[in-house]
Amino acid sequence: MIVASPHLDDAFLSCAALLQDIRRMVSVSVVTLFTEGGNLVTLSGRQFVRQCGYSDVDGLYRDRRAEDLVAAGMLGVDAEHLSFVEALYRPKPEARGRVLRRMSAAFPESAAIYPTYRWHASKGTIAQSDLSTLKSASTALGRYNTSENVVALCPLGIGDHVDHVLTRTAVEAVFQPEQIIYYADQPYALHWPTSRWRYPDGSREPVEYRGDQIRKASILRTYATQVDALFPEGMPELSEFYYAYRR
Ligand SMILES: [Zn+2]
Repeated sequence: MIVASPHLDDAFLSCAALLQDIRRMVSVSVVTLFTEGGNLVTLSGRQFVRQCGYSDVDGLYRDRRAEDLVAAGMLGVDAEHLSFVEALYRPKPEARGRVLRRMSAAFPESAAIYPTYRWHASKGTIAQSDLSTLKSASTALGRYNTSENVVALCPLGIGDHVDHVLTRTAVEAVFQPEQIIYYADQPYALHWPTSRWRYPDGSREPVEYRGDQIRKASILRTYATQVDALFPEGMPELSEFYYAYRR
């Protein structure tokens, strides 16, 4: 089984209770796509780094990757990092040219595919200039589809973060519908209206999995750079919901 995780923490926030039980029966690889911060620093990008208590992007992502390996070790699953740059820091492909490189040094937003979090990265639409990322992500995930028995856990994309939507689109490009089980993205699922959940065709009835929520919470505390900012009032119970496509 593979779990496609947009960011370092999504798979565990959304699926840790199920994973800790299922790993005794099948081998589980948590494959995280967007594990790099890159060097394009927009205002939104800087705000995110500060909110996590850091002053530099590289340091933050280095620590986030390390946290993920610790969490995976505690859970007894494999963790792989595909090294794509997270949406907040993703440069336009043409920004690699010299003129745009200079312009982006003065005004980073001009070189960003998604210049702001609020108006771009959280709108749920994959930009035209991001289609090459989608193609590379699909190719990378396709390498895990080694037989028809492989199951892929895939985010629904609740919350409309473009990295979550892109991850789902890439999984759907390389796995058959019968191989995919969708998970509700936590913590977005706590407050996002269900009318805006991106249900798979023919399936609105979830399977809820509670499992061991206390153990789940202790594993999630490993993500120290994230949990305080995500849950300033303490960590709530993060229910897990799963859906399968039905013909
Ligand atoms: Zn995420």
